[in-house]
Amino acid sequence: MPKKVCPQCGVRLSVPSGSTLIKCYKCKSTFPVSDAVAAAAAGSKNAPAIAAGVIILTVIGLIMSMQPVSLMTGSASIWLGVAVAGVGTALAFFLGAPTWVRIVAPIVLVIALVNVLSVEHQMSLRRDNISRTLNR
Ligand SMILES: [Zn+2]
Repeated sequence: MPKKVCPQCGVRLSVPSGSTLIKCYKCKSTFPVSDAVAAAAAGSKNAPAIAAGVIILTVIGLIMSMQPVSLMTGSASIWLGVAVAGVGTALAFFLGAPTWVRIVAPIVLVIALVNVLSVEHQMSLRRDNISRTLNR
């Protein structure tokens, strides 16, 4: 039996499959199943926690992606930051985070990705310079 949420009082209800009307045992209101589905999607009590978790993950990923790298250490650590921001963005959609989070998280992910790609580009230029110097 799928769990639904009462749009009047927010209590969780068990809905027998096939029924179109639900009667809430708590506030005694009767409403269509479609209303309850909408309430379940919109009124998640975990929304602030999900939003905070997603934002923290993506910001940590962004900070990681902006760490200084050298030719010796390579760029694995900043790519890890992109991966962390990517996980945060995926969670935002997977867990149904609020709309603004689903807008902000991908933007942060793109910033991290662009930053890492530009670092990769600079590193390849530096590598070219070094090999040219050595071959001189
Ligand atoms: Zn109710």
